[in-house]
Amino acid sequence: MTSFQHGLIGACNKIIALDLKRRSDSDYVAFEFRVKKISVTGVDDDILKEIHKFPLPIQKLIVNEILFVNDRIEKGKELPGLTSLECHCTFFHKYMLPCKHIFHEQLYGPRKLLTIDVWNRFQQMFDESGFEIYEHRELVSFEIREIDEINKAAENRKLTVSELMERTRNEYWNIEENGNEKKKSEFMERLKTCLDPILKKK
Ligand SMILES: [Zn+2]
Repeated sequence: MTSFQHGLIGACNKIIALDLKRRSDSDYVAFEFRVKKISVTGVDDDILKEIHKFPLPIQKLIVNEILFVNDRIEKGKELPGLTSLECHCTFFHKYMLPCKHIFHEQLYGPRKLLTIDVWNRFQQMFDESGFEIYEHRELVSFEIREIDEINKAAENRKLTVSELMERTRNEYWNIEENGNEKKKSEFMERLKTCLDPILKKK
């Protein structure tokens, strides 16, 4: 970590701490806070577009995590291998925001965890309650758990479909290699009868 990055994190933490302690009513501050967009080079445009939907101090926190990905790569760190939006690092637990591990996975890994839907959920945390989410952690972990449940359900469906295809293929090869002509045509008929209603011919 460079001292610049250290300084940046410190500054971000201070901004958040300040905001939590005494929120200013000034319109200007509110404008800066809600509307100002961080400008940074080297961050993917699509990702930056999503980051801009957060309050300014949060934009800084997230951008900083993205910059850390370069650090990780320079140090030869491997992909974190995350399969869901749950990381065990301090940043993720503290802020409930995408961390450098999630971005490492997103930018260089096979799994794209940060879909538009997921971004929306992170952004909504602040739309609804601003920084109060950090004072009501149960609420946040509920949100995250909900995302996890959705991911898990999707994962289960994928596994079930793969398993059914695999078993069908095995059965086909078994009959193709060992069965007589009658068995083979019977199998094909049964397979078609079963699949036709699912494939919903137009
Ligand atoms: Zn992490």
